[in-house]
Amino acid sequence: MRILIVEDEEHLGRLLAEVLGREGHAAETASDGRTALARALVEPFDLLVVDWMLPDLDGVQVVKRLRAADVRVPVLMLTARAQVEDRVEGLDAGADDYLPKPFAFPELLARVRALARRPPENETGETVLTAGDVALDPARHEVRRAGERVDLTAKEFALLATLMQRPGQVFTRSVLLDTVWGGTTGAYTNVVDLYIHYLRKKLDVGEEPSRIRTVHGAGYTFDPRPEYSGQGSPQGPEPIQET
Ligand code: CA
Repeated sequence: MRILIVEDEEHLGRLLAEVLGREGHAAETASDGRTALARALVEPFDLLVVDWMLPDLDGVQVVKRLRAADVRVPVLMLTARAQVEDRVEGLDAGADDYLPKPFAFPELLARVRALARRPPENETGETVLTAGDVALDPARHEVRRAGERVDLTAKEFALLATLMQRPGQVFTRSVLLDTVWGGTTGAYTNVVDLYIHYLRKKLDVGEEPSRIRTVHGAGYTFDPRPEYSGQGSPQGPEPIQET
């Protein structure tokens, strides 16, 4: 996971980055609230570890402003303030979990793992579908790739939602046609191919292989993390062939 550690005690910040780095995370640090807020508003972090007491903008303010801007990245708040009302204030501001200082690193790592497992939720409590860097929010009818909004039509959205509900599962054209077009008369399976083409144009980036993989003779599947060999055609080794 890509983690931003917001901690003004330089030594502790470095130590946290090192400990999280050893667990395989890409951990970066910010030492004040304003820098952290500016970065978290535009950069796609998977988790924020935020100290409460920070110069200029404190941890609670950082979280409040992120939530106000609809940034729903999980936040683990650190603080020496262990009063019950403080804890409530931190959680009310939009933090997902809270760890009182001083803490043991194994406990921090356990909380980070727990937050990583928790599916992100929107404000209605409905689960946001995520696969790789693509996030689909059914309630908001919104798709983001690497944090950037992707505008889709209603059918494109329904098609992507169907595929993303089961990443890796192969859907035949007729199943997709039934699910998305609901047996509309006059809709043929080649309409599926056409909409897959539209989705790829909107979702795929540069040289990377398509998120939506053609399984020859079978149908389509959403690939959460396609392997890019760096060789051959930009589409990768899988022949992208429409029938
Ligand atoms: Ca501090």
